[in-house]
Amino acid sequence: MLIDSHCHLEYEGLVEDQQGVLARAREAGIGGFLNISTRQREWGKVVGTAAREADVWASIGIHPHEADQHADLGEGALLEAATHPKVIGIGETGLDYYYDKSDRGVQQALFRTHIAVSRETGLPLIVHTRNAEADTARILEEEMGKGAFPALIHCFTASAEFGRKVLDLGLTISLSGIVTFKNAKDLQAVASGIPEDRLLVETDAPFLAPVPHRGRTCEPAYTADTAGFVARLRGTTPEHLAEATTRNFFALFRKAAA
Ligand SMILES: [Zn+2]
Ligand SMILES: [Zn+2]
Repeated sequence: MLIDSHCHLEYEGLVEDQQGVLARAREAGIGGFLNISTRQREWGKVVGTAAREADVWASIGIHPHEADQHADLGEGALLEAATHPKVIGIGETGLDYYYDKSDRGVQQALFRTHIAVSRETGLPLIVHTRNAEADTARILEEEMGKGAFPALIHCFTASAEFGRKVLDLGLTISLSGIVTFKNAKDLQAVASGIPEDRLLVETDAPFLAPVPHRGRTCEPAYTADTAGFVARLRGTTPEHLAEATTRNFFALFRKAAA
């Protein structure tokens, strides 16, 4: 069994046929889905799907793209939403300086708000980072110094140096379909060196369909393609990789195991 540790089941491309999407994934051996929030107005839908489907969990949070629209969001709203039994993670949050869709200062402030909530609830922080390695590492390090919190870097595409840094801070690294791309040699090198107990796989569906599905809408079923690729890369079997990443998922997201 595999778990898609990061997908957006409420997004256009998946939501129109959500039952079909889930059925195809289950058929492909995907036994769990973490349905990720990116803005406050979608929390109700994201959590609602998790409440309906036994094998779907939810996260609550604000994507860095949406930070400007949520500049006033305090810890209270996150803490309250986090009490739902199927909410197991905080995010996605973080810094995106590639698109720069929100003010960088607001992105950073909201990132720290999410971290405080993760620390307080014990629910893992789901970190999105793009073209923002230095600030992401600095904030994670500063905040870890104030008190540890569980966290992962989702859709990891950063440098080997950043990878070492976040592993040192105790984070887990999640690989998406990007690792299967022909031009992703540097990422493949990082992926082959991640300690086995710190590794997760995800689709980030409906985005980033892995080889051999590139150009199509990505679906959680394709977790199997990414996991198969990563297994070959690491010289192990798909079964072994599935077992390890599923174990890692439940070790990190303890509330899902409860
Ligand atoms: Zn993301
Ligand atoms: Zn995402």
